[in-house]
Amino acid sequence: MALAAAQRYAASLVAPPVAVSACLLGIVCRYDGGSKPLAHLDRLLDGRVVLPLCPEVLAGLGVPRPPMAFEGGDGAAAMDGAARLVDEHGRDCTALLAAGVTLAVRLARAAGCESALLKARSPSCGVHQVHTQTGLIEGCGMFTAACRQASIRVRSDERP
Ligand code: SF4
Repeated sequence: MALAAAQRYAASLVAPPVAVSACLLGIVCRYDGGSKPLAHLDRLLDGRVVLPLCPEVLAGLGVPRPPMAFEGGDGAAAMDGAARLVDEHGRDCTALLAAGVTLAVRLARAAGCESALLKARSPSCGVHQVHTQTGLIEGCGMFTAACRQASIRVRSDERP
């Protein structure tokens, strides 16, 4: 149903839409129950239509939700089964988020997205850095890794 709607949406557009982290659009989907609206979003999008996506909501993790951090690597490693994503209560959220990420990429592809603008340092959407149990590391989030795998170009809201 959602995929068919995304395909109808894509067919109605003259230029490919841009997948955007939903929290950057002011949607209250962050772990803390807030959002991170981006003041200069219009300039970054250059008039393109957006497809808001939140992989963590699509994963059913809820809003608000406990903060999560990686163990043993970044989101690319977690998508390959070589690292884990664990919340502050010790719950392993890797498989749940992988399912949400897979759905988000399917929606982006069905809508014809060729690029994505994503929120920095998120375990899903981070592009250059992510949080681990021991601190910030160079690496990407799980959604970013899956977008790259699907040949969707990714940009960070902080280093576009
Ligand atoms: S998963 Fe991405 S879209 Fe959702 S709240 Fe985190 S950064 Fe924003």
